[in-house]
Amino acid sequence: MKMENGSAILEDSNVRQFFEETLGDEGIKIIHTLIGRDATDESIAEELGIKLNLARKILYKLYDYRLASYARTKDKDIGWYIYTWTLNLPRVRDVIIERKKRVLDDLSSRLDYETNTVFFSCTNDRFRIPYDIASEREFRCPQCEGTLEFSNNQVVVERLESEIAKLQDEIEKPSSDAFSASRMQ
Ligand SMILES: [Zn+2]
Repeated sequence: MKMENGSAILEDSNVRQFFEETLGDEGIKIIHTLIGRDATDESIAEELGIKLNLARKILYKLYDYRLASYARTKDKDIGWYIYTWTLNLPRVRDVIIERKKRVLDDLSSRLDYETNTVFFSCTNDRFRIPYDIASEREFRCPQCEGTLEFSNNQVVVERLESEIAKLQDEIEKPSSDAFSASRMQ
């Protein structure tokens, strides 16, 4: 059951993209070796032929996202601690949704700012500032002293609105379809 579940999740293009961005190829290899079984960081590094430090770095990243946990036991012969790792892969969908929500908050703040601000921009270098500052500077560009003119931000507003709508849709309907559709853009 666990094995089936894990592999299916990794087929989701959005999940793969998330792991590629946050953990890289080595991270995906580590996830594959941990599907359906627990393993120590040392055995994972050895199996994959990667440095132990790199394996640990990736495992602790997974731990930070609460996508993996470890059990610490003491090896009686050598007296060292051994860390045995377990994946919690189904949580990745929540992690991805949380990330999308943070992006959504950021875009919403930007949209607020764009819709509540009148902008002026320089006819030379397109440097853009809010009306209040432009007025204080007597409509001269702070960079080049060029003329500042009213700047229509309708295109920016529309782009933000469509990005927000797309994200809201993905957050409400986190199906594989929505994931792959967002990836294609
Ligand atoms: Zn200028």
